[in-house]
Amino acid sequence: MYYLGIDLGGTNIKVGVVDENSQIIATAKRKTVVPCPPDDMCEQLASTAMEALRNANLTLDDVPWVGVGTPGTVNTDTGVVEFSNNLYFNHFELRKFLGAKMNKKVIVENDANAAAYGEYQAGALKGAKNAMAITLGTGVGSGIIIDGKIYSGSNYGAGEMGHTVIVFQGRHCTCGRDGCWEMYASATGLIRSTKEAMEKSADRSSPIWKLVDGDLSNVDGRTAFDAMRAGDPIGVAVVDEYIEYLGCGLANCINAFQPDILCIGGGICNEGETLLKPLREYVAKEAYSLSSQGETKICRALLGNDAGIIGAALLGK
Ligand SMILES: [Zn+2]
Repeated sequence: MYYLGIDLGGTNIKVGVVDENSQIIATAKRKTVVPCPPDDMCEQLASTAMEALRNANLTLDDVPWVGVGTPGTVNTDTGVVEFSNNLYFNHFELRKFLGAKMNKKVIVENDANAAAYGEYQAGALKGAKNAMAITLGTGVGSGIIIDGKIYSGSNYGAGEMGHTVIVFQGRHCTCGRDGCWEMYASATGLIRSTKEAMEKSADRSSPIWKLVDGDLSNVDGRTAFDAMRAGDPIGVAVVDEYIEYLGCGLANCINAFQPDILCIGGGICNEGETLLKPLREYVAKEAYSLSSQGETKICRALLGNDAGIIGAALLGK
């Protein structure tokens, strides 16, 4: 048995053919062209999907359904993307239109939920009963698995942990609130914190400024960590603060859901135990724990960027 998963993003459409062992055996990718009419979007998705199948020497008859992960609020009962600001979708009947174009059953899910489901089926969350996946990227994505099922709430909008406030009247967020977790714990948030700390320092000959050749536009998600390793106090301070911001939100997740496992993905996780060890220590102090029960295990996501494709492909399982 083979499965087909589409990871629809604002930049790229990525499709993977997944085998019975949840391994990707063939892929196809193209740039996403938006905004566009619904039929054009379905054409982009269908042609990329067919290319991935050809790359696997398979046809549509070899897969039971087409799974799609998309940004935005997805009504999983109707397959309608209610709203997605970066894809300009407003009540887009994705399942209906793509199903008609491909003449195949289509299953649609929010992309962060699909990625969490991928980790649950084949990655870091495998075997868990209750689990969460947090992704640190441009924003903070989160997916919640309860009793083996994606939890999306009564209106399909649940799991937006990135938009819970951790700093009252803090940084203004695109969602309209101030002080959202993702404004601090995302890669974008870390870059902003790094730049702010560097601008405040008078010493432009310090290691952190050397790391970026004196140019703030060269700051990325690794700069503060590299500076810390070089012994720069700015790097140490930014990383310490970042771990507290990240840990604060994680403790909120744990207090709300008490999952067996919580995995963290995104480029920042390449720091490995440099990030995870102090993070676990912070969360252990902050999270409300029931001493007689097991505590939430915090680990790194295993599937990386493939989680969304694998999760989408296996949505019908
Ligand atoms: Zn927000």
